[in-house]
Amino acid sequence: MKIAILKERRDGETRVAATPDTVKKLIGAGHEIRIEKGAGANASLPDPLFEAAGAKLGTLAATLKGADAVFAVRTPDDATLEKLPKGCLLVGLLAPHGNKDRAKALAAAGINALAMEFTPRITRAQAMDALSSQSNLAGYRAVIEASQIYRRAFPMMMTAAGTVAAAKAFVMGAGVAGLQAIATARRLGAVVSATDVRPASKEQVASLGAKFIAVEDEEFKAAETAGGYAKEMSKDYQAKQAELVASHIAKQDIVVTTALIPGRPAPKLITKAMVESMKPGSVIIDIAAAMGGNCELTKPDEIVEHDGVSIAGFTNLPGRLAADASSLYGRNLVNLTPLLVDDDGGLAPHWDDEIITGMALTRDGKVVHETLK
Ligand code: NAD
Repeated sequence: MKIAILKERRDGETRVAATPDTVKKLIGAGHEIRIEKGAGANASLPDPLFEAAGAKLGTLAATLKGADAVFAVRTPDDATLEKLPKGCLLVGLLAPHGNKDRAKALAAAGINALAMEFTPRITRAQAMDALSSQSNLAGYRAVIEASQIYRRAFPMMMTAAGTVAAAKAFVMGAGVAGLQAIATARRLGAVVSATDVRPASKEQVASLGAKFIAVEDEEFKAAETAGGYAKEMSKDYQAKQAELVASHIAKQDIVVTTALIPGRPAPKLITKAMVESMKPGSVIIDIAAAMGGNCELTKPDEIVEHDGVSIAGFTNLPGRLAADASSLYGRNLVNLTPLLVDDDGGLAPHWDDEIITGMALTRDGKVVHETLK
C-alpha cells in the first residue's frame, strides 16, 4: 500500500511518524512510502536520510496523492484532513477519549481512523503500544528536566569541603512513565519513593529500589481494571491519600507526577497547601499536565514558581526527545502494519481482529467505537 507521512502541524509537535529505519522496514515489506518534505526536521531526521532509505519526498499534495494510509503522530489539522483521499486509513495518536465531534468529522470525511491510544493492553499488542513507548521516554525526560531546574545535585557527594545530601524524589503514579522516572532518579543518585493506587505497582516499585507509600485499604486492592489501568478513586480514598501525601511531600525535593485515568481528567493529588509545605528550591514535574495536571497549580507548558517551588507542566515530554520518540513510535506503526493489509500487501484492515476493533474510531463513514457513538 501507499503510506503517506506528513509534517506534523500541531503546535510544538516535534516528532514524526517514520524514521529512515522504519521506512526501510516498510519498503522491505512491499509498501511505497511518501514523505512530506521537512517532516523529520525537528527530530534530527533531514530529508536526505529518508531519500536514502527509499522514500519519495514531496509537497503535502504530492505526498497525499493516491495514499492508501496516512501514518501520523497527532490528528492532522482541519485543512490537512480535508485533503486526505476518501477511504484513506488514518493511524495516529488521535486523542480519542470523549472526542465525539472529531470522530464524527473523520467519519463525515470518509476517513477510516485508528487511534493508537486505544491499542488493547494484551501481550500480542505490546510492540504496537505507543502509549507505553512514549510514556517510558516521558518518565525519563521528566527527571532530566527536574535535574535542570533543581539548583542542587541529585547524588550524595562526600567532599573535603563537606557533604552534599542526596535529593529526595517522590514519583506519584507508578505506571510506565512513573517506573522509568523512578529508575532514572535512582540512576542519578536520588533517594526515591513512589505511590500508586494499583496493588500490582507495589512490587514493581520495590524491585527498582524505591520505597512504596500508599493507602492500602480494600478499595486499593480492587483499583486495577481488567485493561491494566487505574479506576477513579472514591472521595473517601482521595481524602486518606491526600493526608498521606501531605506529610510525605513536605520532605521531598523532587516530585514527578504521572497519575492518569483513561478518559477522565487527571486526579488532583497535590494541593496548593502541599506545595506551600515544600522547601524553596523543590521541583514538581507534572507529566499529567496535558490532562489537566496532578497539581492544582500546574499550567500547561509553563514553569510556575510558587513560594520558591517550581512546577513544570510540559505537555509533550516525548517531543523533547523527538529522535528517540519518533523512532519508537515509528516502530510501533511498523509492528501494526501487518494487521492493516492483505496477503498481497494491499490496504485491508483486519477489522475483526481485537486489536483493530479496539483501535477503530471510524469505518466507511460511520463512528464505530462504542465510547464515541
Ligand atoms: P496511566 O498512564 O494510565 O497512569 C499512570 C499511573 O497513574 C498508573 O500506574 C495508575 O495506576 C496511576 N494512578 C491513577 N490514579 C492514581 C491516583 N489517584 N494516585 C496515584 N496513582 C494513580 O497508566 P500506564 O502507565 O499506561 O499503565 C498502567 C499499567 O498498565 C502498568 O502496570 C503497565 O505495566 C500496564 N501496561 C500493560 C501493557 C500490556 O500488557 N500490553 C502495556 C502497557 C502498560
